[in-house]
Amino acid sequence: MRAVIIERPGEMRVDDVPAPEARPGEVVVKVGACGICGTDIHILDGEFPPTAYPIIPGHEFGGEIVATGEGVTQFNAGDRVAVNPSLQCGYCYFCQRGQGNLCENWNAIGVGREPGGFAECVAVPQTSVYAIPDAMSFAEAALVEPISCVVRGFHRLSPQIGETYLIYGAGPMGLLNAQLARYNGASLVALIDINPSRLERARTEFGFDVVGASLDELRPHAPRGFDNVIEATGVTKVAERAIDAVIRRGKLLLFGVCPPGETAAYDAFKIYNEEITVLGSMAVHNSFGPAVDILAAGAVAGEKMVTHTFGIDDFEEAVALVRKGGGLKVQVNPSA
Ligand SMILES: [Zn+2]
Ligand SMILES: [Zn+2]
Repeated sequence: MRAVIIERPGEMRVDDVPAPEARPGEVVVKVGACGICGTDIHILDGEFPPTAYPIIPGHEFGGEIVATGEGVTQFNAGDRVAVNPSLQCGYCYFCQRGQGNLCENWNAIGVGREPGGFAECVAVPQTSVYAIPDAMSFAEAALVEPISCVVRGFHRLSPQIGETYLIYGAGPMGLLNAQLARYNGASLVALIDINPSRLERARTEFGFDVVGASLDELRPHAPRGFDNVIEATGVTKVAERAIDAVIRRGKLLLFGVCPPGETAAYDAFKIYNEEITVLGSMAVHNSFGPAVDILAAGAVAGEKMVTHTFGIDDFEEAVALVRKGGGLKVQVNPSA
């Protein structure tokens, strides 16, 4: 079968590899769509510490089960599924306390030590697959993982109905956060991005009218600040300045993945005096099933999120498009 292989940082190719077989407890998924995300670019560039090379990348995917291993009772060939890439050991300190996304032996399909979805087929544990409704396309199924990260962020924020939101970044993750904020009963959802075409898309295609290139532009909409400020750019300087947008007793969620080791400086007095909460949100935790359900319920304009689909042999071209910031969600259909 065809698969993308990253031999080592900076060295990527599309090649023929043996198709996987379902070991006990596993199912083989024929990938219908797999999204490219910023983490894939980091893996390509050698900037994601947990990755063990060589690896077949791809962690945002859905498809059809084509084989089941011994002991698989819940799923059958022909079932349409989305795959939760996060893997937890189950026995470490944090897993035993029900905090599996903080696992001390953290691993993930297509990200850590297991082959991922930029391949025609991938074998995954039955515990990682979620049935999707017939009406959900594979392109949408491949959005469940990023949505599940956003759901995790909302679990951390635990916002109240009627609150205001400011989201830094109008890329795929920013727009997913914005749509979930709206779905969650926001009274105002504002977006900041330095890329005017992204703001234009947020406005015209997703109906977010309060957008701007800077906080100063948006201040008049929320003079005292925003209840929930979500940093979805992964730029440390942005994470630092984002606190200026938080209302008294408001919350700042660091959702974007900033480079490890960089420092954001905060006015400690401000956090004390204004009772500000700063939160982190790491990947997926008890949020994959809810993500399937809210996508099925129409919380997210799934089809609008996917702007480009490539065949697997054009993976390099797809990556170049993502690096340029072109389009919104860029996906690969390995079965095309
Ligand atoms: Zn991702
Ligand atoms: Zn663990």
